[in-house]
Amino acid sequence: MLVAGAFAVGQTRDGATDTPASRPDQPPAAAPAVSAPWTAPATPAAETPVTASPEAAKSEVAKPEAAAPAAPEAAPAVVTPAPVVTAPPLPPEKPVISDKKEAVPAKQLFSAEKLPSLGKAMAIGYYPRGCLQGGVALPTNGPTWQVMRLSRNRNWGHPSLVNFLEKFAPAAAKATGWKGILIGDMAQPRGGPTPTGHVSHQTGLDVDIWFMPMPGHTLSNEEREKVSAINLVSADWKSVNAKTWTPQHYDFIRVAAQQPGVERVLVNAAIKKEMCRMQGAKHPEWMEKVRPWYAHHDHIHVRLECPADSPNCRAQPSVPDSDGCGAALDYWFSDKVLKPKPKPADGKPAKPPRPITLADMPPACKTVLAAPAKDGE
Ligand SMILES: [Zn+2]
Repeated sequence: MLVAGAFAVGQTRDGATDTPASRPDQPPAAAPAVSAPWTAPATPAAETPVTASPEAAKSEVAKPEAAAPAAPEAAPAVVTPAPVVTAPPLPPEKPVISDKKEAVPAKQLFSAEKLPSLGKAMAIGYYPRGCLQGGVALPTNGPTWQVMRLSRNRNWGHPSLVNFLEKFAPAAAKATGWKGILIGDMAQPRGGPTPTGHVSHQTGLDVDIWFMPMPGHTLSNEEREKVSAINLVSADWKSVNAKTWTPQHYDFIRVAAQQPGVERVLVNAAIKKEMCRMQGAKHPEWMEKVRPWYAHHDHIHVRLECPADSPNCRAQPSVPDSDGCGAALDYWFSDKVLKPKPKPADGKPAKPPRPITLADMPPACKTVLAAPAKDGE
């Protein structure tokens, strides 16, 4: 049973989480030929290309957990009995993945893993091409949050993402007057590509958060599967929808962009435009982090910086040093985005891109996939 009010707003499309993998983060009305939310559109250089150079891939060589230090050759002069320490089993040094497995789409391998890998928490690789070691779960219910779509098992992340959400949820609730927030996809237990919905979200540093307040009751599992997020954008994609957009949404986005460690907050261009308008001539510094992107009309996507404990995490170039208002938004309202020509011209359906395989991923991701599961989450 859905409650009245916010939940009564029906959406035919749940861009927050249900976007088919082949058309990530694209407005339904317009299907520009982008392959990923990080791929830079021709004009605004807001995002960065996905393709890792061979050099970059090489630099992502697996660094297995350091072996236990060798016992000292000679006994120390003062003999103190060493404490008995039972070290947790380390992930295997060499991944036990067959060549056959390397050719399987990585989304199948990673989505089959129901638990995180053993090992120190680390984000590995790049947001759209990486994985997560030692992931931790965000509890599905908190004082000021509830996690949606539990069947997907995507409430996992690097501890920095869980920490971010535990701080952001009460801050957003306070700023908006909402009871709390609704959290969509984070990452799979071991990160990696997902079979549906995203191209990024692979390293445990990305999260989708819905543009609607948490209700006053604990949602049932069924509600969490069926309720859709609210679309804040008008049918022509040129402005916010006056019926759904509220000043609270502005504060929700502001508080997200102001949190430490946030790399980007992606929103629909119409939302960015409205925020620029509300601010008038002078824009606060945090607006640099609020970037326009396809879809994102019913949720924000928050991306965190690479954590200090993750040497194999590849950083995304910083956002341009500009508020991104005014003419910088023109591209997003051009025909190229809003009325893209169908491709290809011969009418044949576009060939879907070759799915990512393990061989395309940082070598450390094989170790993550082969590692024993971490219990007790
Ligand atoms: Zn997302």
